[in-house]
Amino acid sequence: MTIIHRMYKTKTYKTWESMKYRCNDQNNPGYKDYGGRGDRVKKELIDLTGKRFGRLIVKEVAYRLKENGSQYYWKTICDCGNEKTIRGDHLKAGLISSCRCLQKETATKHNLVNTPTWYTWRYMRSRCLNPQSTEYENYGGRGIKICKRWDSFINFFEDMGWKPEDMTIDRINNDGDYTPENCRWATKIEQCNNTRRNVFIRFKNIELTISQWAKKLNINRITLGNRIRRGWTIERALTQEVQSHAN
Ligand SMILES: [Zn+2]
Repeated sequence: MTIIHRMYKTKTYKTWESMKYRCNDQNNPGYKDYGGRGDRVKKELIDLTGKRFGRLIVKEVAYRLKENGSQYYWKTICDCGNEKTIRGDHLKAGLISSCRCLQKETATKHNLVNTPTWYTWRYMRSRCLNPQSTEYENYGGRGIKICKRWDSFINFFEDMGWKPEDMTIDRINNDGDYTPENCRWATKIEQCNNTRRNVFIRFKNIELTISQWAKKLNINRITLGNRIRRGWTIERALTQEVQSHAN
């Protein structure tokens, strides 16, 4: 059985990576024979529809990441019937090859304890729950919680999968809790772009953090954070009524 986190940096991955550099990176020694002659790895949409990645078959494009115009998310259907939306480059690099059912089948507590993924879970719990932790002040101490489901490591593993090499757990909304919806694996660089410790928002002469505004106005913290991230004006973000989505 293939272990997913070991496929990252495999021969196939390296072939794809060096192809990209030969074509797109002017400093690459091979550039003059590839990119220099007009060869391109298409930066725009490379259609993955119908392609199979492990247990996943790609159904259609789900959406495009705003911050990075060439990055797409794809709707996939797993052999087990579950639907899952996954980043194109993660699919292509072989980082993800099932809806998580594969991990679930191979996961037993015994072979997961002391893996990097397990340490991530342990440290996350310590930051949020243990006042003795040096990081507590920036996490549990300022109200960052962990969803009930992640009391169980197996559940955490099911939702997040293996921790990819060179990545750590990142809360998409820095004021949001540790939940499957608000967490992803990200590189340090991606995280720096996202880190906003105690961003203060000034409105009508009151200055509060996103969390404090959310509490004051009875808006979901994550919703409010997302509005600000999307570039809404402060007034609109704080005053527009939250639409309920039909689902
Ligand atoms: Zn599945």
